[in-house]
Order: sequence, then structure tokens, then C-alpha cells
Amino acid sequence: MVSSTNQLLMHSKVAEYVASFMRIGFLNGEYVPLVEARIPIFDRGFMFGESVYEVIPVYDGVAHFFEEHIARLESGLQQLSVKRPSLQWNEIFRNLVEANRQGDCQLYIQVTGGVDRLRSHRPILSEMEPTTVAFLQPVRFEERDSKSSGIRAFAQPDDRHAFCHIKTTNLLSNIGAKIRAVPGSEIIYLSEGFVAEGASSNVFAVREGRVYTPSLSNRVLPGVTRKALIGYCRSLKIEIVEGDVSLQDLYQSDEVWVTSSIREITPVTQIDGLPIGDGVSGPIWRSVYDEYLKHRPEPSLDYPTGGQG
Ligand code: PMP
Repeated sequence: MVSSTNQLLMHSKVAEYVASFMRIGFLNGEYVPLVEARIPIFDRGFMFGESVYEVIPVYDGVAHFFEEHIARLESGLQQLSVKRPSLQWNEIFRNLVEANRQGDCQLYIQVTGGVDRLRSHRPILSEMEPTTVAFLQPVRFEERDSKSSGIRAFAQPDDRHAFCHIKTTNLLSNIGAKIRAVPGSEIIYLSEGFVAEGASSNVFAVREGRVYTPSLSNRVLPGVTRKALIGYCRSLKIEIVEGDVSLQDLYQSDEVWVTSSIREITPVTQIDGLPIGDGVSGPIWRSVYDEYLKHRPEPSLDYPTGGQG
């Protein structure tokens, strides 16, 4: 039996490792110890959630789909009428990798509307400099074999706001759902009877060899992984249909998958307690995930702990 002293030692080792990984972050042009990074209270991200973010997967120091994530971040800023920070994202990423421990991680970037003079819904300062934060955080990318056992999912009404196509930090519903859910499972949001997306993923279903996914709308984040996967299906000559997908469609599918930058393409083998297909990951998942792996950098798989995006 592991003694409590040993357990404490183990925990502090993990904490030490994570702290060493995450030591230095980026805040408005400066590289600072993360524990010392401070944002003024009149920041519009803090006051009003006027803020967008990205989670970019980094495999052993190599970022995947970097430009696509930055493009979505900048499009989100434009949609929120927040000034685009004049920053070299690539350089920030390289500096963070150099300043911190390398390996498998996520690059987190958040940009807010900036700091005003007072709290006011309508900005007082006509020209505000956006606040930009970036840091690395370790991630355990799941390997193919453990991924293939699949995860459970649970459907629930979509009680989020009307701007789910913008990657804002307004995640009250998403985090509430995750906190209540079985660890490792996913929530599938239903909007007017149809599947929108997962709490942190896009959803795909397979029926008779054809792949279906909900079309993009204000209830669906245009996932970077979603877009890549649609491309991989096309190159594998697997028919892909973007359109309405009901919960019944999901229950009756041969395969269901969720996609995200951190979860990549993960099979869902049970929804609301019902098995999907044979209740195990399927052959179409295997071929599209193999295609995904062909285009993905190699992970280091060297870490004592992990995190999710
Ligand atoms: N939808 C939501 C709500 C998400 O949080 C995520 C994860 N960012 C996704 C979809 C998947 O997006 P991506 O493939 O770009 O990570």
C-alpha cells in the first residue's frame, strides 16, 4: 500500500513538474512568471467576458494547425469588434517553448477587449489596446489503443448563448456540464431537436459507410479538427454530409465520434447509456484516425500528468 507520505511526495512531484513546465507566460509583450502575471480589474474580458481564446495542440514542441487556430482567433476578434493585437504569434510560441519545458502541451492564447478607465458597458476609451495572454500547459495525448476503447456521451438541451460559433471564454454552460458529467465523458448539446456539438468538441456520426456532421451555424464552433477531418474523409473517398443530425440518428448510428484539438478524433461508444453500433470503436474511425495520424507531428508521450482543452 502506498503511504500517505508517499502519495504527498508523488503529488508534489507532479505539481513541481507542472509548475516547471508552466513557469513563464506571455502578457502584453512581456515574458513573465505566470504566478506574477496580473490583469487590471477594468479589463473588459474580466468585466464582461469580452474575450476569445484558442487551444493549440503542441506535439513534442511542434504546434499542429497553428495558422488555422490563429485565423479563428483573429476572426473572433473581428466579430467582437476588438482590435487585433499587432503581435508575431509564431515568435511568442517559439519563445514560450524555449522558456519552458518542452514536450506535449497546449498553447493557450486569450485576447480581451482591453482595459478601460471605468466599468462601462459601452467602452469609455475609444481606442483600447487588447489584453493578450499566452502560456503552455502540459497535455496527455491519448494513444491510439486507449482511444479506441471510446468514451461515453450524454445528450442535454443546448442552454448556451447565441454566439457559439465564436470561441469566447463565456463557457458557463460548458464547464457546468463538464463538472457534473462522468470524468472523461462528453456532453452533446441538442438545439431544437438536433445535435449542435459537444461541450468541447464537434460531433460526427457514421451510417452505412457515410459520415454525417451538423452544418455550421451559430450553435456550432467551426472546429479546426472538424475541418481537417472533412478533408480526410474526402481524400479517403468517404462520403461526408453536413446537415441536420437528430439524437435518434446518433442512437442508430454505426459509429459516433467527437473531435477536438486535444481529443483529436475520439470514438463515442455509448450515448445516454445506449451502445452505439456494436458498442466498440468502428472501422471507419480506424481509417480516418490513421489518416489524421499521418498528418500529425509525433508526440513525446513523456509526462506524469495531463489536462484537457
Ligand atoms: N466545439 C467546442 C464548444 C469546443 O470547445 C471545441 C474545442 N475547441 C470544439 C468544438 C472543437 O474545436 P477544435 O477542433 O478547433 O479544437
